[in-house]
Amino acid sequence: MKAAVLYGYNQPFKIEDVPKPVPKGYEVLIKVAGAGVCHSDLHLWRGELKDIAPPTFPLILGHEVSGVVEETGEYVPPHIKPGSKVIVYWAYCEQDDKYALKGLYQLCSLRAPAGIAYYNGGFAEYMLVPHYRYLISAEGLEDLAAASVLSCAGATAMRSVKKIINEVDEDEYVVIIGLGGLGILALQLVRILTGARIIGIDVKKEKIERAWKIVKLSDYDVLIDASQVDVRRSIYEATGGRTVKAVLDFVGSEKTIETYIDLLSPMGTYVIVGLGSDQSLIPIRKMVVNEISIKTVFYSSYRELETLIDLARRKMINYKDIVEKIKLEDINNAIERLARGEVMYRQVIEF
Ligand SMILES: [Zn+2]
Repeated sequence: MKAAVLYGYNQPFKIEDVPKPVPKGYEVLIKVAGAGVCHSDLHLWRGELKDIAPPTFPLILGHEVSGVVEETGEYVPPHIKPGSKVIVYWAYCEQDDKYALKGLYQLCSLRAPAGIAYYNGGFAEYMLVPHYRYLISAEGLEDLAAASVLSCAGATAMRSVKKIINEVDEDEYVVIIGLGGLGILALQLVRILTGARIIGIDVKKEKIERAWKIVKLSDYDVLIDASQVDVRRSIYEATGGRTVKAVLDFVGSEKTIETYIDLLSPMGTYVIVGLGSDQSLIPIRKMVVNEISIKTVFYSSYRELETLIDLARRKMINYKDIVEKIKLEDINNAIERLARGEVMYRQVIEF
């Protein structure tokens, strides 16, 4: 099978012919339909994840994957059969502790994420998934290749919104920072799951314009181009001088945290999603006197991804318009474009 193989940090991916795996036991072989190029792939490629998840080279990256079941091991139940359309939940877990038993595989004590650390991912024609429990049915989705973005970007956005779902009322404001792949999905999820009023912020005019086109927003929602206006003033005008109840920060840099944590109302919630910065100055006293909470998000539970896929199946969220389809041979260019900040939403390798 054809695969993009990575031999070390900062090295070009090599397109090679490698043996097609044969599934045994609980394993399932997937014929890949789509594999998204995630920002984490760029972090991994640069060696920035080596303390969190050290990879074993050579490695086939690609953790955001959709496909069709090709072949199954002897212990895989019959409802998962060749031809079934699936989305892969990538946070494999090798220890069935209390987190794993709740379907919170992403937080379990022994993690082995697909296409990141030990197991090969989906930048290849076929991908071996170590257990059928990491597959979710993708039947009924309009565009299987594009739907791969639900697996990482979508799932992470879903969990971020779940973190504030019980914190905001209909007439309260939620600020979303960064309207890239995750932000635009979160924008849609906040709209349909909370009913709260939204203030979306980005520093790129094209992203603001595109978001207006892709998402059905309410009359109360506003999108702000932070490169053009004074953000605090714009938010003050949009809210009529009120504070905001929650911030979803998909950038997670020192600058965004410092700027936006100040806008929260008492008992507000600040959710950090991006792996933007390793250190930031958090204004503890200001937070304490207003009982501000900080929450963080790492990927999603199995159930949250399943719920998201169901929303997509019922056409309640638009994932197709945030995808730019590329070929496997374009992978090196895709990583470079990501590094240069040229990608509007999500590049997906379509097979
Ligand atoms: Zn990812």
